[in-house]
Amino acid sequence: MEILRFQVEDIVELKKPHPCGSKEFKILRVGSQMRIACMGCSHDMTIDRIKLEKAVKRFVKKGVDE
Ligand SMILES: [Zn+2]
Repeated sequence: MEILRFQVEDIVELKKPHPCGSKEFKILRVGSQMRIACMGCSHDMTIDRIKLEKAVKRFVKKGVDE
């Protein structure tokens, strides 16, 4: 199983779109509780890291080169 390494400024595409229609979210804070912001409407929310890992379809952009 792939291990997802989230970092601040990463942009991820989720499997389910936000009500505004955008599927892309930016990582604002990393931890057991993640904070993400919708790229479509700027709405931000807190989500369990485990839930987010399951919800992510792919990384659109990595914020920091590894
Ligand atoms: Zn939105």
